[in-house]
Parts: sequence; C-alpha cells; structure tokens
Amino acid sequence: MKRTLLISACLLGISCRYDGKDNELSQNDLRILKDNFTLIPVCPEQLGGLSTPRLPAEIQEDEKVLRKDGVYVDLAFRKGAEAALMIAGLSDCNIALMKENSPSCGNNYIYDGNFNGSLIPGKGITVNLFEKNAIKVYNENEIEKIIKENTNV
Ligand code: SF4
Repeated sequence: MKRTLLISACLLGISCRYDGKDNELSQNDLRILKDNFTLIPVCPEQLGGLSTPRLPAEIQEDEKVLRKDGVYVDLAFRKGAEAALMIAGLSDCNIALMKENSPSCGNNYIYDGNFNGSLIPGKGITVNLFEKNAIKVYNENEIEKIIKENTNV
C-alpha cells in the first residue's frame, strides 16, 4: 500500500494561490509522485477561510501575519494550519510536500514581511505547526529527496 503524502494543492494545479493562479509541478514530477504516494491536497489559506483571489500576506517580525492592506490575517492562517494538521492526522500522514516561500507552506524561505519580494530563511505557519507535530516537510525542489527517503525505489 502506498504511503500518504500531504501536498500543497497549488502544486497539483489547483488555482488556489492568492492571485488565482497555481504552481503546477511538471507532468513528470506529478507522475513520479502519483506512482509512489497517495496524494492528499491541502491549501491551508483556503482551509482558514480566505477567499481566492485574495490580497498577499506576509509574516512579520513579531510572527503575526499581515495582509498587504495592513489588516492582520493571523487567525485565518492559524486556523488553516490547524485544519491541515487535522487532515494529516485523519490521513495517517507524517510527510508533506509544501510550496516553498509561502507564508503558510514555505519550509526553508519566506518573504521578509515588507512586500518587496525579498526572501529570508524561515518557515510558513502551517509548516511550523507540521514540524512541531513530527510531520517531515519537503518542498517542490526536493522531489528526488522525498522519493529517496520515503520509498524503496
Ligand atoms: Fe499553495 Fe499553500 Fe499558498 Fe495554498 S497556502 S496557495 S497550498 S502555497
């Protein structure tokens, strides 16, 4: 039986990004993932009740999430993270492939909070919660690694 893998929904081609677009992986990467895992798509920001499209938001120095128009959306981000964690539990899933740089899904880098496109080392709200709950997180540039570490291939 294949292991379950939680995956950022936008990587599967679902148009759930803040700008209504997606981050679909290459057909080759998708085939490799589908051959090796049962994929469970989640978009924490939609799960938190945010609409699509929506204004961009970034994590601030105080770790709160601020929308570009100055409104705090921290609660929605944390609600979405909790919902994604619950889905992981229901799916018996302890690995995740999440979209790098996102304030929810980034696992190594996030935007620096100034809405100018600059990245800093850091983790998204959902990834942070996943890692605190022993879910190992990979990003879209680590497909080879996820296969190597979690399958017999
Ligand atoms: Fe993709 Fe995650 Fe952003 Fe949703 S919250 S659009 S899954 S990066």
